[in-house]
Amino acid sequence: MVHRFCEWAKEILKVDVEIFVSWSCPPDVSMLSSPGVSILIRSERFDTLLVEYLHLKDAGRQRNSVVTEFLLPSAALRWMAEFLLGYRWPQAALYATVRAQELRTDRRPPNPFRDEILASIDEVQRAALQCFCLAHELGHLFPSQHDQINLGARIDGLSLSRHIARDIEEAGMGDVADQMMDIAGSHIDASVLLREIDADLIAIELVAVFLANTLDVAPETALRASLHACEAQSFLYATKNTCQLLKKHAGRFQSREEFVRDDWIAGIQTSVRARCLLRRAGILLSRWCAGDQEQTASTINRFVPLVDAMFSESSEFRGDLAVAAHREAENLLSAVPAWNSDQNRDFFNPLIEAARQSSEIKEDLFHMLIAMGFPGDTNPVSWLEHLFELQRAAV
Ligand SMILES: [Zn+2]
Repeated sequence: MVHRFCEWAKEILKVDVEIFVSWSCPPDVSMLSSPGVSILIRSERFDTLLVEYLHLKDAGRQRNSVVTEFLLPSAALRWMAEFLLGYRWPQAALYATVRAQELRTDRRPPNPFRDEILASIDEVQRAALQCFCLAHELGHLFPSQHDQINLGARIDGLSLSRHIARDIEEAGMGDVADQMMDIAGSHIDASVLLREIDADLIAIELVAVFLANTLDVAPETALRASLHACEAQSFLYATKNTCQLLKKHAGRFQSREEFVRDDWIAGIQTSVRARCLLRRAGILLSRWCAGDQEQTASTINRFVPLVDAMFSESSEFRGDLAVAAHREAENLLSAVPAWNSDQNRDFFNPLIEAARQSSEIKEDLFHMLIAMGFPGDTNPVSWLEHLFELQRAAV
């Protein structure tokens, strides 16, 4: 299915690209480009993380204190641990793993260890998850069409700054809106944001059309699955970004202030992308379902509530998860020393000892490494010690 999608999408976009699967790297999908040749690198682990997100979303529908205080933070920490391991920061990965274990109410791992064929979700959603991140990367190969590269640039009639202003207002920060707008204006790279939005918009259309045609489902169903795929991808990319920021800021002077600012800047860009995507989804649905009518604002507005409902049905879950993930990130920021600090050995030793003593922590680490593509005889404790010594030698 993924191969078929890629061949079809390459033809539609008129782009040429080779696709490779990566091993022993952070779970990711990325593109290497130079004139005349592009290479798309995907780790299949990323697909299974996306599936985990959807399962968590199902579990998180019941909003109770066990979910918000234990299940969500422990799941977020478990993902962070894997990304931190990928970024070769063993002490932070270990700290996150141990804390995720402490918060886990059920001792068994929260997700099936191996779900490589992604059999735990239905066919349409599975195809959407696998294709969306590839489609997004393929979208990056398509040349940018904007004549204005700043926050005044408009997407489907609305400027980026209008979206940002709305976000600030909805977050209840209306009384400091001008200052927030200034911070956004000076820290957001509009060219990067526009390229990401373009790639998202190309992806949503490609994936929804492909699903509707190949799996013979209604446009609304195809669009819903594509939006959910994008939502899962956004959260995991945001978590990955948070882990990079943590490594950059942990243990540094004034780190909290800068971390909070950088994290807000990243979050608002994710939110602007989602707003642009929903707007486009409404336009697409209108075109597909009422193609025989003139596409005026009132025609499109008939479909906007349908699309909004697809997204807002899980807004409470997303809010709860964001709060839990943010709390844990701040906790990591204050607990873990800077990656190159002298305090690391004192910080690392008790953690690795705890891992050595606990079969559950060892098993969790082992699963992370195997899922990332490490050989089956990898000893997680030895690997982390090795990684730690490598890092100390590099300081
Ligand atoms: Zn991108």
